[in-house]
Amino acid sequence: MASAKERAQKVSQELRQATRTARTASTRARKLGEDFRILLVQVRAEAEAARNVVEYPSGRYECNACHQPVIFSETQRALPPCDSCGSSRGYSGPRARVLDVIPPTPREFSAGLYECTNCHAPLALVEDSDTLGPCEFCGATEFRVL
Ligand SMILES: [Zn+2]
Ligand SMILES: [Zn+2]
Repeated sequence: MASAKERAQKVSQELRQATRTARTASTRARKLGEDFRILLVQVRAEAEAARNVVEYPSGRYECNACHQPVIFSETQRALPPCDSCGSSRGYSGPRARVLDVIPPTPREFSAGLYECTNCHAPLALVEDSDTLGPCEFCGATEFRVL
């Protein structure tokens, strides 16, 4: 049986190790939070694009980069890069028609970072939602926006 002093030294070591692990984990969590915010902007842009369906009517267009005229004989959902110069800067020509603008469904909680008010665990909500939680760590149902 180890002496109390030896056991205390061991616990002291473990405490140091645990603190170090916790520090690393919290730095990582902060970084992941930042990544999540950046991605969320792109998620919103994707959702926005999905709601706006456009159609380019057939007709004569002109490349915005090299001004080469091009005829599209059929309506297009997306215009391809220019055949002549390979540019994707788009074309001038007939105006695109917006076919459907689907309004976003209003939800109670918008996508974002939340924090459990009880245990402060973060919760990253990817899509707008009517429900939030309960906290998977403590079961609490109250959250605040981070
Ligand atoms: Zn071109
Ligand atoms: Zn919690």
